[in-house]
Amino acid sequence: MAKPKPSFMDTIVSLCKRRGFVFQASEIYGGIGNTYDYGPLGVELLRRVREAWWNGVVVERSDVVGLDSAIIQNPKVWEVSGHVGGFSDPMVDCKKCKGRFRADKLEDAKCPEKPSKQPGQCDGELTEPRSFNLMFKTNVGPVEGSGSVAYLRPETAQGIFLNFLNVMNAGRLKPPFGIAQIGKSFRNEITPGNFVFRTREFEQAEMEFFVPPADYAQWFDHWKNARYEWYKQYGIDPAKLRLRDHEEDELAHYADRCGDVEYEYPFGWGELEGIAGRTDYDLKHHSEGSGTDLVYFDPQTKEKYTPFVIEPAGGINRMALTFLIDAYEEEQLEKDTRVVLHFHPEIAPITVGVFPLVKKDGMPEKAREIEGELRRARMATFYDEKGAIGRRYRRQDEVGTPFCVTVDGDTLSDGVVTVRERDSMEQTTVKVADLRAYLEGAMRTWKRPERVAPAGA
Ligand code: ATP
Repeated sequence: MAKPKPSFMDTIVSLCKRRGFVFQASEIYGGIGNTYDYGPLGVELLRRVREAWWNGVVVERSDVVGLDSAIIQNPKVWEVSGHVGGFSDPMVDCKKCKGRFRADKLEDAKCPEKPSKQPGQCDGELTEPRSFNLMFKTNVGPVEGSGSVAYLRPETAQGIFLNFLNVMNAGRLKPPFGIAQIGKSFRNEITPGNFVFRTREFEQAEMEFFVPPADYAQWFDHWKNARYEWYKQYGIDPAKLRLRDHEEDELAHYADRCGDVEYEYPFGWGELEGIAGRTDYDLKHHSEGSGTDLVYFDPQTKEKYTPFVIEPAGGINRMALTFLIDAYEEEQLEKDTRVVLHFHPEIAPITVGVFPLVKKDGMPEKAREIEGELRRARMATFYDEKGAIGRRYRRQDEVGTPFCVTVDGDTLSDGVVTVRERDSMEQTTVKVADLRAYLEGAMRTWKRPERVAPAGA
């Protein structure tokens, strides 16, 4: 009997493992539910995504600065922020199979009974939903006890609110301004899953933008649109992207409005990034809780107010997964099928593959020399001399390398190389002396090619 065709997500998971993007964590011990490690290409992909986000939110603007705050803060922070009391998801138990599920995501959950069904379909009765707090508790210091309890942060945002005065005073900033942070967050998710889409440990990219209350609505719209456009700028299919405003009953305890950038995943539409209006909730609560007045005071006008906050919050791992899924194509060529990741060149883990045509006549040495020059220019390269040249191109296509440079006899005699472009597979002869400028130009002018239907779609 023919083997069933793997689902699109299975294809992505297996590519990730085979090519060293993502591995199961603690694999040799049987893993630990829905937890992942990132291999060499995965690390590079995350680094690119992080950098692109930081460029869009911080570097390209004059009104946003960065911060790196501690993961474990004074536990009072989480009481005052409302997370101890309110950072929870509704949970139901199945009385038959004893499975626990998130009540508002039942359609995404699988019952542990085989054949796997949706919760409640195994004839088991589901309990009434009750609140399950998502924060991980830990103990700080050598003595365990109620006085040593602390929490792993479930969002990076609070570290920003705690440093509002420090950053504003050190930078002599005046609203509107933003403070951005990228770092790990931890949530004891009831039902993690869909590969790295929802995990218990993940990297968040958040920015708190502090504005005069009168400008709140306008800045909220600005950030919603800016973040939506950012995904398009990096090549994500606009047909699979949408902005969706939250209904009142979906809002987090601190928000009065929220718009999500959503993507159509193989498992349905899901949040990619949320843009929340947090009002003055956090600064007000921390002012009361700490006794420190977290306000802006204008020395000229003597005006004093608590800024309102707009927060774009995305997950770096979820963005990386989205770039992978969106870039993947199986292209039907004349003789065979080509697997290719059409990453934006600034997102691709490797920028240039460098190959000697054959392993002789001084070509490997010349290729190594060219590769070294590109590396020194901070381009991510990969040197490969194994196998037929066509197969080397295909190996790079599969991990999304936008350019391959081949050194042949003409390189040694005429100082030219062949540049092969991933998307069109076209080859161009370029002078070695012009190579760097050529590649940089091609990166700047890159456009996502017309899409063919992805595998399994
Ligand atoms: P959900 O409703 O899906 O649980 P959320 O609305 O609680 O998500 P936010 O608090 O807005 O999520 O977090 C901001 C971003 O962080 C999300 O848009 C997502 O990209 C990422 N994120 C949140 N939770 C996880 C997780 N468990 N694993 C991976 N990324 C996550």
